[in-house]
Amino acid sequence: MAAPQKGDLSLSERKILQVIAAGDVQEAAQLLASEEVRVNCLDEFGMTPLMHAAYKGKADMCRLLLQHGADVNCNQHEYGYTALMFAGLSGRTDITSMMLDAGAEADHVNSVGRTAAQMAAFVGQHDCVTVINNFFSLEKLEYYTKPHGLEREPRLPPTLAGPLHKIIMTSNLNPVKIVMLVKENPVLVNMAALEKCHQVMDLLCEQCVKQQDMNEVLAMKMHYISCVLQKCLAFLQKRDDKLDALVKSLLKGRDSDGFPQYQEKFIRDCIRKFPYCEATLLQELVRSIAPVEIGNDPTAFSVLNQAITGQMAFVDANYCATCGEKGADKRCSLCKAVTYCSLSCQKLHWFAHKKMCRCLQEQDADLEKDSPKLKDLKEDESDLVMETANFLQELCLRAEEQVAAAGGCPAELRAGPPTSAEGPSFTQD
Ligand SMILES: [Zn+2]
Ligand SMILES: [Zn+2]
Repeated sequence: MAAPQKGDLSLSERKILQVIAAGDVQEAAQLLASEEVRVNCLDEFGMTPLMHAAYKGKADMCRLLLQHGADVNCNQHEYGYTALMFAGLSGRTDITSMMLDAGAEADHVNSVGRTAAQMAAFVGQHDCVTVINNFFSLEKLEYYTKPHGLEREPRLPPTLAGPLHKIIMTSNLNPVKIVMLVKENPVLVNMAALEKCHQVMDLLCEQCVKQQDMNEVLAMKMHYISCVLQKCLAFLQKRDDKLDALVKSLLKGRDSDGFPQYQEKFIRDCIRKFPYCEATLLQELVRSIAPVEIGNDPTAFSVLNQAITGQMAFVDANYCATCGEKGADKRCSLCKAVTYCSLSCQKLHWFAHKKMCRCLQEQDADLEKDSPKLKDLKEDESDLVMETANFLQELCLRAEEQVAAAGGCPAELRAGPPTSAEGPSFTQD
């Protein structure tokens, strides 16, 4: 069959473009099943049905078209736009991922030399930029699951490829989150597995630096993940409570202000250990971090995170105080100053947060005192609130002590009275 020509559409093909706009997946499926619709047909502007579906944000339709063999890298558009570019412009991260999974080439440029990530950034679709910049195909990782050259066994056991790929693809680089991703996969919580994974990450880092168009950002990400995996390995070797101890170390705040010192030093160390000194990104990161005293802003995490994901932290979303997940909507009911993504994250953080929670409550109360209107109106009420909060706090601290006395086993307490060790409850926003 001849290659589709621009604007040379059958009636059914014109019909399917309308159906895509309307989002009727069933009718689209029927049309695609007929002989009269070519899945890669082109309208007057050189847009394929897949481009239309991506631009209009129709995920189900995109999936259907890909199943019917839509060419994700078709490049007949009059300005050289690809389906990935349209997905990025639409702001839909799920569709952007789908295009990448289907083999979309991220470094393809349009007629004015812009990549999909640059176009998405231009229209403010930063979540899509993050998805594109952090994409690394499972295929490329699976390369290491087969022996090459003189190797007698593959560098990466095939069972580890999936779980490791999930970690590589995370756009949340909080070290606690990465340790959680390791923990949720029993195959990874194993010294031999971690050793192999971090070696493969080092190889991927090297590959990103040495490839023709060097990708420093991805190289830094691969290196950083390798560092976290090595840290997990070190804790598995030395500590009885294994990865839980690592999570605690990463969350523990220093006495003076609760700042997670260990985490800051760990991330600074990771950056410093990046093996390619000549990389501009490394020099930029070091320049931003070196003059900052530990505990001040910007933190090493925020600098690293912005460099890798292109996202500024703390702009428009609440982040989980434990794992850094975006969109955390559960607030500590006592101080209302920190948010969490889940109850389990709040539980994990309570040992570190309880020391700061009271100070944060007092700060909050001071603010209220400074505002005379509020004070007049709310004096009695706010005293009562504070009293209740302090009482609850007491209960929590006591419960925490019981946990410590019971050998740190919160399960025992959970069956007991409601004065749980898990800290205060949530207030939903
Ligand atoms: Zn969380
Ligand atoms: Zn609190």
